[in-house]
This record gives sequence, C-alpha cells and structure tokens, in this order.
Amino acid sequence: MTRRSGRPPTSLTKTGFGQEELRRNNLSALLTRVHLHGAISRASLTRELGLNRSTIGALATELEELGLVTERQPAAVRQSGRPSLVLEPRRDNVAVAVDIGVDRIVTGLVALGGDVLHRRERAHAPGEHDVEHVIESAAQMVEEVLATHPGRCLGIGVSVPGAVRDTDGLVRFAPNLGWIDQPFTELFSQRVGARVFTGNDANLGVLAEHLRGAAVGHGNVGYVNGSVGIGGGFLVGGVPLSGARGYAGEVGHLLVDGSSTLQCRCGNVGCWETKVGENQLLVRAGRLSGGGPEGVAEVIAAADSGDERAIEALDEVGQWIGVGLRAVINVFNPEVIVLGGSMAALWEARQDVVDKTLDRWTLMSPRSDVIIRASAFGLDSPWRGAAEMVFAPVLADPASVLELGAQALVTSR
Ligand SMILES: [Zn+2]
Repeated sequence: MTRRSGRPPTSLTKTGFGQEELRRNNLSALLTRVHLHGAISRASLTRELGLNRSTIGALATELEELGLVTERQPAAVRQSGRPSLVLEPRRDNVAVAVDIGVDRIVTGLVALGGDVLHRRERAHAPGEHDVEHVIESAAQMVEEVLATHPGRCLGIGVSVPGAVRDTDGLVRFAPNLGWIDQPFTELFSQRVGARVFTGNDANLGVLAEHLRGAAVGHGNVGYVNGSVGIGGGFLVGGVPLSGARGYAGEVGHLLVDGSSTLQCRCGNVGCWETKVGENQLLVRAGRLSGGGPEGVAEVIAAADSGDERAIEALDEVGQWIGVGLRAVINVFNPEVIVLGGSMAALWEARQDVVDKTLDRWTLMSPRSDVIIRASAFGLDSPWRGAAEMVFAPVLADPASVLELGAQALVTSR
C-alpha cells in the first residue's frame, strides 16, 4: 500500500496518465473508497472523486461486472428527480487472514469492505515449532473457514513474528518460532493451492491501524507490538517503511541498557525486548515465563489489588517502556504511536510512569507533540493488516480479479 492516507486520491483526472491507466486508476479510487468507507451514492462519488456522472456510471458498471460491487436504490429518497444509485462492496469477496503467533494461530475471514465474518484461534505451546507443522495446522484452519463461507477468495494473508524478505516472502528470522531462512510463503502456497502474501506482524499492524484503527488520518505512525518479543512497524509520510529488504523497524533490539548482562534471542545484550517483553514482567513478578497476554493481565490485576512484587515489576517495566519509546519518538518523530499486544495493557496500567520517563527528555520531542494510543484491535491488528495486504493488489487494479484462480500466485510484502 502506498496510499498517503485512508482517503482515496482525488486528482486522478489530471494529465500524466494514458487513457487505459486513467481508467484503471479511477476504478481503483472508486473501489478503494467503498472498501474503506462503505456504501456511497453515485452523486456523492461524482463530487468526491471529481469525475462526471457518466464516467462514474461506467466505472460502477465495470466494477459490478467484475463482481466487486453491487448497486441498489437508496433507502430513502429526499430529493425529487431520479434517485442516485448507491454502490456498496460485495461481501462475497473475501480475504483469509492468518496470524502465526508465538502461542497461537488465529484465522480471520474479512469481506471486501472490511467486515470480519469469522475469527477463530488455536493455541499451541510457546516455543520452537517445525515450519511444516505450523503450515499444516494453519492450512487446516484456512480450509475450515473457506468451507463454511463460500465466496471468491482473493488470497491468504499471513502475519509472522519475524523478518520477512519482501521479494519472495522468505522468513529470514523468526526467533520465537525458531525459524531461520524458511521459504514459508512458497511452502504454504503449495499446501493450500492459493496465492499467499506474508508480512511481518508489526508492519501489518501499522497498516491495519492506519487504514481502520487508532491511526486513521495520520501519515507518520509508529506501531509497537509487544508480546514475548517487541516489533515495530512504521509509516513515514504515509508510506510503509520497509528498508532495503523489508527488515526495517526492529525496535525490540534497540540497545537501552548498556549495563545489562541478560542475553537477548538476537545474541546481543541490553535490547529493549529483554526489559519489556512479557516474560521479563512475569519473571520479575515472581511467576513462570510463557504466560502470554493472559499472564500479563494477571500481573496487572495483582498489582491493582496491592501485590508488592507485581507493583514493582510493573513500575520497572513501565520505566523501560518509556526509555524505549523515547528513542522511537526521537528517531521517527511520529504523530501517533499505537501500542499493540501486551504493550497496550502495560501502558494503560502505567501511563504515569511511562509519561514521567518521556517527560524527562523534553528538548527534542515534547510528550505533548505525540499521541500515544492503545491499538484499536487489541491482539488482532496483525491479521487485520494481513487481510488488507490481500485486498491491496485488487484495490490497486480491480480488473486483476479476473486472473484469480488461473494460477496460484506467490507474493509477499
Ligand atoms: Zn536483541
């Protein structure tokens, strides 16, 4: 997605495009409009996209023939004269989203237009898992959801907690699953016989928050996802920050404590995620590691009811959250930072501690200049973003749906 904001472009009639490209861009603008913002009349589209009535009519008819939208009479007619038809996305075009988590696999079915039709999760033991086993388990879940929801599947989007090479969807490094250089996208596509798009969980999280969540309307966004590890996804000037190969944003491995001897899974010491990861909090509060978000919620509840050890653990983690966020804010100068996963719950429990740490260094990036918010989707942002990753090529070129089913297409971002 290279859109600068959630709004469709409005200046596509300007010169610089050939006729064919112009038509494709207008189709894209119209479909993107109804996908992100819902049903709209032809008359409103005429005003919003700056195109004349006959052009809108022709585009709407083409999208209808492609099976992507339907047109209906408006529910109530307020003005005299011919009522303007209302366009809406066809919900039988679906994306299957999969989140390969550290301790669970989540599948979601999302309709064109953004409605979530189905969600389920299957827990597994935290730790390293064979890539073939993970693919088999996820494929079974995908097949189940598709069997109960007939429709046109536009593809399968997968979120993984690791670095994904953008050229071919190879998972370069996913330490919490024990994967190094796994051709995940290719293997999963072969198994399910459909086109598969794979992305890093935090990069997909920032996409979901930007399009439909806590960062709508903002072009400079940081999304920090906390679980066992800490991931970061960034939007700079409305464009996803990917880096040379797609590995940018690994803020979990920022050095925040030079005196630490605790080794990170990346091999270094003093990384941010060794200070604020879920297991750090759990162990610090006198519990066993591996409790996941539920374990974090228990520590917060214990602190609220006066458990001294839980209070100390939360205060300490809150301070380290502030230290890391300060670095993130100074490097990226975001308008909004969205906190996802367990990081959201920790921040909500210790906002005062986080703010105090941030306020200690006010010279470059005053706390008042940045909005910090919890994710709009809780733990679900990555797979919500994975669904949007599937929709993206169809929104960019609606006629490309005609090629679906002809051949399994393996791609990634
Ligand atoms: Zn590290």
